[in-house]
Amino acid sequence: MRAAGYTPITYDNLSTGWQEAVKFGPFEQGDLLDRARLDEVFAAYQPSAVMHFAALSQVGESMVKPGLYWHNNVTGSLNLIEAAVAANCQNFVFSSTCATYGDQDNVVLDEDCAQHPINAYGASKRAIEDILRDFEAAHGLRHVIFRYFNVAGADPEAEVGEFHQPETHLIPLVLDAVAGKRDALTIFGTDYDTPDGTCIRDYVHVMDLVEAHVLGLKWLSEDKQSRVFNLGTGTGFSVREVVDQAGHVTNAPVPMIEGDRRPGDCTRLVSGSLRASQELGWRPDRSTMKQMVQDAWRWHQTGHYEK
Ligand code: UDP
Repeated sequence: MRAAGYTPITYDNLSTGWQEAVKFGPFEQGDLLDRARLDEVFAAYQPSAVMHFAALSQVGESMVKPGLYWHNNVTGSLNLIEAAVAANCQNFVFSSTCATYGDQDNVVLDEDCAQHPINAYGASKRAIEDILRDFEAAHGLRHVIFRYFNVAGADPEAEVGEFHQPETHLIPLVLDAVAGKRDALTIFGTDYDTPDGTCIRDYVHVMDLVEAHVLGLKWLSEDKQSRVFNLGTGTGFSVREVVDQAGHVTNAPVPMIEGDRRPGDCTRLVSGSLRASQELGWRPDRSTMKQMVQDAWRWHQTGHYEK
């Protein structure tokens, strides 16, 4: 964002994030559930746009703690949206998810596809999309909704990357297993209706995702209509294919065991849309599986934010 000429102001409660990852612009600690704090920060900076990334995002956790997901994600987002409108900030970029589509085997997932989420995480994100539509109709808040597929990779210079505690995402877990930081990767389900029996996802490099957000802001600044865009490449990789690629990149065996399905997981989530390329001019050039695993591995070897 800084490179594109913007000053990003980061608002985060640091519940899962890291202040060390805030490299550019001011940092304000706060919670989306704290409306007074939000109002204070809007008043202090008078931002021209909001980019809303903050959410709980683990499919498995959302199945056992749905209340937490509805409260944090939906109530928190509603607070943020209301604070933006109150501060007359009329441009909103929202991180939604392919999990809003749910399990739709053999259906090409484009933005007009019906949304039938099968987990509370996806349902909470769909609800926020609905709130944005209502707020545009009533208050003129314009939005770009990005439905992310599976985000992977890291900053190629390895200064910023993915680090969750506990880690639940596939690629960092595979790399942990390679590095001996955990015993073995567990493959969640080998009996899915896919060629090798494991789930298929469409992975997109975080740097390409960043580029899409710059294009999203440009879209809104040009007064174009509110719009939904899938951010995926259209190529699916099974869990086993990701594991194989990690073995190639690291040149090491990946210890793994075959386990049960994880409740809430869709069989296959792959974008079937060219809308982001055609309308935004988005080119996800860095999103090859090899590049994503290479960049994640480079980042992983720095030891990141571990104390
Ligand atoms: N997965 C797995 N073992 C793990 C973590 C994830 O087999 O320890 C699978 C998971 O079932 C899904 C894919 O890897 O099919 C991607 O999962 P992740 O949690 O990274 O992202 P999600 O698709 O849930 O957003």
